[in-house]
Amino acid sequence: MDFSISDRMQGLLAQINELIETVVFPLERLVADKGFFGAEAELNAARDKIKAAGLWAPNAPEDLGGMGLTMVEHGMVSEALGRSPFGHYVFGCQAPDAGNIEILHKYGTDEQKDRFLKPLVAGEIRSCFSMTEPANAGSNPTMLSCTAVKDGDDYVINGRKWFTTAADGAAFAVVMAVTNPDGGKHGKATQIIVPTNTPGFNLVRNIPIMGHAGEGWFSHAEIEYKDCRVPQSNRLGAEGSGFMIAQERLGPGRIHHCMRWIGICERAFDLMCQRAATRDMGGGKPLGSKQIVAAWIAESRAKINAARYMVLHAAWTIDQQGFYAAREEVSLIKFYVADVMMEVVDRAVQTHGALGITDDTVLSFFYAHERGARIYDGPDEVHKVVVARRIMNQYADATGNKAHS
Ligand SMILES: Cc1cc2nc3c(=O)[nH]c(=O)nc-3n(C[C@H](O)[C@H](O)[C@H](O)COP(=O)(O)OP(=O)(O)OC[C@H]3O[C@@H](n4cnc5c(N)ncnc54)[C@H](O)[C@@H]3O)c2cc1C
Repeated sequence: MDFSISDRMQGLLAQINELIETVVFPLERLVADKGFFGAEAELNAARDKIKAAGLWAPNAPEDLGGMGLTMVEHGMVSEALGRSPFGHYVFGCQAPDAGNIEILHKYGTDEQKDRFLKPLVAGEIRSCFSMTEPANAGSNPTMLSCTAVKDGDDYVINGRKWFTTAADGAAFAVVMAVTNPDGGKHGKATQIIVPTNTPGFNLVRNIPIMGHAGEGWFSHAEIEYKDCRVPQSNRLGAEGSGFMIAQERLGPGRIHHCMRWIGICERAFDLMCQRAATRDMGGGKPLGSKQIVAAWIAESRAKINAARYMVLHAAWTIDQQGFYAAREEVSLIKFYVADVMMEVVDRAVQTHGALGITDDTVLSFFYAHERGARIYDGPDEVHKVVVARRIMNQYADATGNKAHS
């Protein structure tokens, strides 16, 4: 395993880090004050600077103008961008669009690519992914109730979704709906593209998250699909392939989140150390001179480093052997890195005292909005159960008994 960073990557990372600090960090205060839509002009101006620097959509496939990064390189770039809640957005590689770009690139028809993929990659429009339903356990997404029934050349979609991230202001949604009720657990659903201006696409509300409903890209919507009619040509992939495509989307999505979370850890750690070094606790002694705070700093450093190496190793395994070979590692990092991030952010908040829970630093944003990390893309418990089952099955006894089938 070789994690040395090529000269090209070192230059690229230095350039990205500088842009994050000079172009993206100043936007944080602005968006906190004016909201996403209120600050959209400034956000777009920042995106133009990134495009002019030739760094737009670094993760996109090369034939779409991306950089053709390896997974390890992607991890390093994503960490740099993750230092700000706006990094990925300003560089044009934010969730959920990045995942939708991947599946449209792979499964979209020429017409779908022209109409939806190209403007999405260019940052001219946004999109969302609508799978989870309030009435069903999202941890078992095969329990879908939303249906898409054929009628002439169309599908008519009925159902209720929630946590459709970034639906507010999106141009289209990719919806998971049951098209083949008899298709078996994994063959009954299909992904369908629904332009959000279609009659029957009803954005009910942006769901308040810990006191903030948010707006635009920073929101999670509840959506009612009511007799929502779209042409069958909007189907993504084959009928009944919805879960297979969702798995393809979620696999990379999980490691991408972990890479971003390392960036959040680094930002929180940086703020914690700055505060610990400069907050005078009396007699000229800084907060960091207290042993307990010093221990937080040392322990956080160790855990972030461990988390980073785990993520890079998973990325390296993917580069060498593909996603399937890395599936256990990806499950491990999905819950481990989320946990490290929550702990580091919590300690950074604590180090700041009352300031830590205000909106005067970015920490409270991370604290409130990243708690979901332990829930989305498979809650911690699901990943732990999956990993433990695989491990225990290696200890099957001589009779072939398995821990689980
Ligand atoms: C910030 C955020 C953004 C999201 N964005 C999107 C999006 O863009 N599109 C979309 O479709 N969905 C999105 N989701 C929804 C997300 O995919 C679901 O929340 C997730 O799949 C869990 O489903 P659930 O909330 O229904 O929890 P449930 O399935 O009801 O599970 C509740 C809890 O039960 C426990 N649990 C579950 N399974 C097991 C098990 N096997 N063993 C032990 N314990 C278990 C876990 O602790 C879990 O948190 C988002 C969620 C969040 C928090």
